[in-house]
Amino acid sequence: MTLTPFTHGYLIFIFALLGLVMGSFLNCMAIRIINKESIVKGRSHCMSCGHVLGVPDLVPVFSWLFLRGKCRYCGAHIAVRYLLAELVSGVVFVSLYLHFGLCLELAEYLILAALLLCISFADLEDYLVPEGLIIAGIVNRVIFVLLSKPIGAAALQSLIGGLSISLPLLAVVLIMEKILKRDAMGGGDIKLVFMMGLYFKWSVNLVSFLFACVLGILCGVLLPKLKNAEKQFPFGPSLALGSWLGLLFGQQLLQWYVGLFAR
Ligand SMILES: [Zn+2]
Repeated sequence: MTLTPFTHGYLIFIFALLGLVMGSFLNCMAIRIINKESIVKGRSHCMSCGHVLGVPDLVPVFSWLFLRGKCRYCGAHIAVRYLLAELVSGVVFVSLYLHFGLCLELAEYLILAALLLCISFADLEDYLVPEGLIIAGIVNRVIFVLLSKPIGAAALQSLIGGLSISLPLLAVVLIMEKILKRDAMGGGDIKLVFMMGLYFKWSVNLVSFLFACVLGILCGVLLPKLKNAEKQFPFGPSLALGSWLGLLFGQQLLQWYVGLFAR
């Protein structure tokens, strides 16, 4: 589909807006999952004073900036992560539109991105990788495999992708746990690696996982203040970010790497 520059620009604007709004929603959803509150019932409220928030308090980015990161009703500080969650989601949504263009695949990967963002927010907040969101990710992939042709080839590639990293990882973690006699990696992270892997070729998954490991190490080194970092480490966001980088740059990186040996 060819779009005029104006339509293209307009769509970028729309996806940025959608990303910002979804970022706000997904961050709220993550907190509700952690607090075991209903995701659909109950209106948004201040975490400090409980005051129900109105439309002017819920405009992504602008509300936070306008209220200078404070609750309008009680003056409680609203963490900068609310603003960051919205901005990151906006960037991810626009990048996916630019990568895929307007097509069915875009819908599939926007849903995956929304799930990964919510998982990342929950993991950062409370070291939780919600199982329901992993299952939703698997169901989303199955639906789009059923829509693809031929189904058999798509299903096989998806399964190989899913197991390509998660299975070796599970083996390594089990061996490490035997040697160290303590938990080496959260089970939630391995399930997450499986779910994300379903969406990509095994080779791209490998690149994504390498990205995730580098990001995880960088976070561990640069952010020593990660609470209880010795006991628990939120690896979900690094995995999600790794798969995003793998999607955008994995294929080019692999071609470049293979090219080094082809000469
Ligand atoms: Zn308040």
